[in-house]
Amino acid sequence: MLALRKVERAVDGLSLDEIESPGPPPPGYAKIKVNKVGICGTDLAIFNWVPFLRHMKVPIVLGHEISGIVEAVGDGVDRVKVGDFVSVESHIPCGRCYNCLRGFSHVCENTRYPGIHIDGGFAAYTNLPEQILWVVDRDVPADIAAMFEPFGIAVHAAMDGIGVAGMNVVIAGCGPIGLMTIMAARALGANTIVATDRNTMRLGEAAKCGANFCINVDVGDLKTEILHALPNGPDVFLDFSAAAESIQTASDVVAGGGEIRLIGSPAGTIELNIERWLHRGLTVRGLHGRRLFATWVHAMRLVKDRRVDLKPLISHVLPLKEARYGFGEALAGRTLKVLIDPA
Ligand SMILES: [Zn+2]
Ligand SMILES: [Zn+2]
Repeated sequence: MLALRKVERAVDGLSLDEIESPGPPPPGYAKIKVNKVGICGTDLAIFNWVPFLRHMKVPIVLGHEISGIVEAVGDGVDRVKVGDFVSVESHIPCGRCYNCLRGFSHVCENTRYPGIHIDGGFAAYTNLPEQILWVVDRDVPADIAAMFEPFGIAVHAAMDGIGVAGMNVVIAGCGPIGLMTIMAARALGANTIVATDRNTMRLGEAAKCGANFCINVDVGDLKTEILHALPNGPDVFLDFSAAAESIQTASDVVAGGGEIRLIGSPAGTIELNIERWLHRGLTVRGLHGRRLFATWVHAMRLVKDRRVDLKPLISHVLPLKEARYGFGEALAGRTLKVLIDPA
């Protein structure tokens, strides 16, 4: 079968190779016939060979935003059966560490990921642990089911802490997950939503997703523009951009007692004025992944009840042999969600 792999420990280092299809699934695993797989920001970070991903194994089949059909199951598998339509949670928690035991398995100390530690979904077939498979109703399109993993981050971000219901919210960074968060926040009852980015195409999408104000960070002063839209400042500031200017501005504009939620992963150290947090009583929350599996329950509900329609966020559906083109377009910021069909 054809597979997109990271083969070299360097920038790019991707290769489209003919490899053996995985054999029968080992105990606790299911063999998945991949239907669609998304290109994620993490895949772009793997392409760019950022320091925090250099522990990954190579060669490895990339891809963790997967939907597909269970083709075979290994011994002891009872969570899914042959023929089930599944979406995939990308965190494989250990279930035994201090965080897992306390109900925080989304921040497990020993988390492994398909496409980083074990072969992922940029191939026609992949063997995955049953613990990360989520059975999806057949009436959900495969394209949408492949987007539950990133959409789960959006739902987690919107529902964490004091949530968004009735709140004035800034969503900084309008990549696919930022846009999904605008949709989730709208569906969950946010009051006014302000979106920021420097990509005009993405800001246009933000408006379609339900943002009331769209601020181009390259035009005017960010703090002034946010306070122009929300004179009292936002109650909640969600940062997906990981940009120093955005996170620093958050400390200045969030209303007293409000929340900053950090979701985008900064590449390095950012200087912050903690005095601003302290004297204004702000809560700063770091977010990673999805709550297992509470977020999945809520995300599924929003999609199934048509409170959120993820379809407009799919900008490309490409065959696997054009995956490299998809990476190039995504790296250039000319895409929303890129899905690959490995069939
Ligand atoms: Zn992802
Ligand atoms: Zn653990």
